[in-house]
Amino acid sequence: MAGDELLRQADIALKTAKRSSDTAISFFDRKMESAVKQRLQLSQALNHAIERHELSLAMQPQVNKYQQLIGFEALLRWQHPELGEISPADFIPLAETTGAILKIGDWVLEKSCETLVRWATSSRSKHLKLSLNVSPIQFRRRDFVPRVEQLLKRTGANPNNLRFELTESLMAGDINFIVSQMNSLRELGVSMSLDDFGTGYASLAYLTQLPLDELKIDRAFVQDLDQHGKGELLTETLISLGRSMNLAVIAEGVETEKQFARLQELGCEFFQGYLFGRPSVDAERYFKD
Ligand code: C2E
Ligand code: MG
Ligand code: MG
Repeated sequence: MAGDELLRQADIALKTAKRSSDTAISFFDRKMESAVKQRLQLSQALNHAIERHELSLAMQPQVNKYQQLIGFEALLRWQHPELGEISPADFIPLAETTGAILKIGDWVLEKSCETLVRWATSSRSKHLKLSLNVSPIQFRRRDFVPRVEQLLKRTGANPNNLRFELTESLMAGDINFIVSQMNSLRELGVSMSLDDFGTGYASLAYLTQLPLDELKIDRAFVQDLDQHGKGELLTETLISLGRSMNLAVIAEGVETEKQFARLQELGCEFFQGYLFGRPSVDAERYFKD
């Protein structure tokens, strides 16, 4: 085998070991090579996904305890020409490693602002809030706030109806900078939500420092409600933590009437999940008469 081929294979094994959470040693095999090829092909396709109109935003309804619609979460969908629909859980991490997330994130932001402008033209939808997911890679950029400001100006979207969902992994970075970004965005009128709350890093210590408007209780804690006991205690604690900090508390992944009822008893005010509606590219079906 030629020297450079050996080095190339060693490099593939090294990258695989780095990505893996449970091993630091990794030997090259052919399967690894095809996985690398697949990632490469996928990341190249992702680079063109916007121009090729393969991305769309699915909207999932959010409701209050009377099941009245209060807004939507925008969830990214990628329709790959050969592979079909690819889950954001698979392609967002890839886009984050290649940097494609910046262009994609801009696209999501722009489409969301345009959607808000459209909703503003009808009395049935002008009060609705739109939550979108922001990757830590996007949020840590120095030019993120001016970009948002520019886009709000250009589209004329009402910032008071725009909400950013951030994840706890964001707090692993320079916390002072993150807090100042959040404050600047709130000055523009955009509100801040902490997504997947309870699953991430030990951000409890930071929680009081963060200028948040909403806590989003992760689906795992909603599922725990079916078992009672310890799981339920934890869910209750997370909800009362949010309420004691004067934050809106929303639960995600609500699938059953039983979960919905129990969450209300525990003090949760807002809800999202299949029980109220699946993500749909046609959000208007949720507020048409
Ligand atoms: P997330 O922000 O926590 O979104 C909630 C996920 O739970 C969505 O998965 C949604 O379809 C799913 N879900 C909602 N209700 C239920 C339910 O009742 N039961 C179950 N089993 N699942 C439910 P999805 O759409 O596959 O998105 C996965 C993740 O991808 C999101 O998690 C978010 O972290 C990320 N993501 C999606 N869109 C974007 C985006 O535009 N930008 C970034 N950076 N990340 C995104
Ligand atoms: Mg989210
Ligand atoms: Mg979530």
